[in-house]
Amino acid sequence: MGSLNACDILDASLAGTGCLEHPLDAEEFRRHGHKMIDYIADYYNSVDKYPVRSQVEPGYLRRLLPETAPNQPETVDRIIGDVTSHIIPGITHWMSPNHYAYFPSSGSTASFLGEMLSAGFNVVGFNWMSSPAATELESVVMDWLAKMLCLPAQFHFSGGGGGVLQGTTCEAILCTLAAARDRAIARGSDISRLVVYGSDQTHCSLKKAAQIVGIPTSNFRAVSTRFSDSFALTGASLDRAVVADEAAGLVPLFVCATVGTTSSTAVDRLLEIGEVASRHKMWMHIDAAYAGSACICPEFRHFIDGVELADSFSFNAHKWFFNNLDCCCLWVKNPAALVAALSTDPEYLKNKATESRQVVDYKDWQIALSRRFRALKMWTVIRCHGVANLRKFLRGHVRLAKVFEGLVRLDRRFEVVVPRYFSTVCFRLRPVRAVRTGDEEVEEEIASGLNRRLLESVNAEGRIYMTHAVVGGVYVIRFAAGGTLTEERHVRTAWLVIKEHAEKLIDDVDILNW
Ligand SMILES: *Cc1c(COP(=O)(O)O)cnc(C)c1O
Repeated sequence: MGSLNACDILDASLAGTGCLEHPLDAEEFRRHGHKMIDYIADYYNSVDKYPVRSQVEPGYLRRLLPETAPNQPETVDRIIGDVTSHIIPGITHWMSPNHYAYFPSSGSTASFLGEMLSAGFNVVGFNWMSSPAATELESVVMDWLAKMLCLPAQFHFSGGGGGVLQGTTCEAILCTLAAARDRAIARGSDISRLVVYGSDQTHCSLKKAAQIVGIPTSNFRAVSTRFSDSFALTGASLDRAVVADEAAGLVPLFVCATVGTTSSTAVDRLLEIGEVASRHKMWMHIDAAYAGSACICPEFRHFIDGVELADSFSFNAHKWFFNNLDCCCLWVKNPAALVAALSTDPEYLKNKATESRQVVDYKDWQIALSRRFRALKMWTVIRCHGVANLRKFLRGHVRLAKVFEGLVRLDRRFEVVVPRYFSTVCFRLRPVRAVRTGDEEVEEEIASGLNRRLLESVNAEGRIYMTHAVVGGVYVIRFAAGGTLTEERHVRTAWLVIKEHAEKLIDDVDILNW
């Protein structure tokens, strides 16, 4: 190209190429939009044809794509073609009915439609003025949800509290921890003395948040849980840790209790923890990322009994509440504490509405300034299904988990390791008694190895996908039902797949004569 640089050669004529001629042309949008929706609908129809866990090797995509960006425009058709040939092989299919890994990512048509509106309007609703509907709809749906969950009045806007849609639980915990920290500092505490508590089952987002808000690493406590408590954090064990810290001159700041832990869906003892928290004047947050949604069903509501003692409560609507990523619902009793820690007031955002103090400016309830109009998808999801059907869907997933649990329990070679509360079953092949050495530790080690091989064998084949956890030193396989497309026939097939792989493995083990 001689002395020309890349920018000089961009100006080719676009006429007649089938390319998008303008960045926002309504008619082209209509045409390509229909095509894209058709493509996604076809994907949903055929998603179970792909291996659930992507089978590609690291770096696969760099080898397939050009090293530099195209100078000339390309057609949407070509791009869609490359999605099929290059991108889909590298997708792990979270929307597959055979995806049982991690926790579900329960997308839905209603949420998708709401997302389309949000992407279409493309507003940047940092404060009320920047798009009043974005703020007001969010406040309304957060109050709706608070009522669906029977959260105490102090979490509703009318009761002095309020809810906000964050992107993720990590952000929700970070914001509440920052609020707690600043409240403590305002009361005269020194940040180097503040202590944060969770259990050894608490999600790593608490530790990350503590690091970010400046809690010394040595002041982070992961209180031990026990198999005999089903890995729940108890008030007594929390109290022991808090009392010891106070005796050492430290200041208890924040405790994060979990409803539905990530490894095994354990439920911390909220009432006991709340009592300890209030006695020691700590901020109590409840992280119900996965299981919170189930609590809209009266029969599961007891899992959050004690929420009245908490300062804040969050759950991920993108996990098990039919909202596409991302959507974390956070409520606080005292929004002023959040605002004190997170607000900014630059001249270029000053406006009459804010000055009137009649409005919520959600930029002061979160980390970033800019924010998406997330409430549209939640509003669409709730309205398209109604609370009655949302409950029905959640109950259906719990029923699927019960079916799976029943199948595991019928097979003597397997065991369910911890109680199943929601739609996730933690199970494993039992330690192999035939090769009993008399040494339980060796047996456990062999069992862990066997279950690890079982899981890898199942996932490598790709008909279903599950992941693992280690609780109390025991390697467990997690079966998380709750995918939006999963039906009972999928669950029954999944069990057959697991048994097939297990039998092959057990045969191999016999040949090895362990
Ligand atoms: C998934 C999960 C999180 C993290 O959620 P993000 O939205 O990805 O930050 C936190 N806590 C629990 C209990 C979880 O299961």
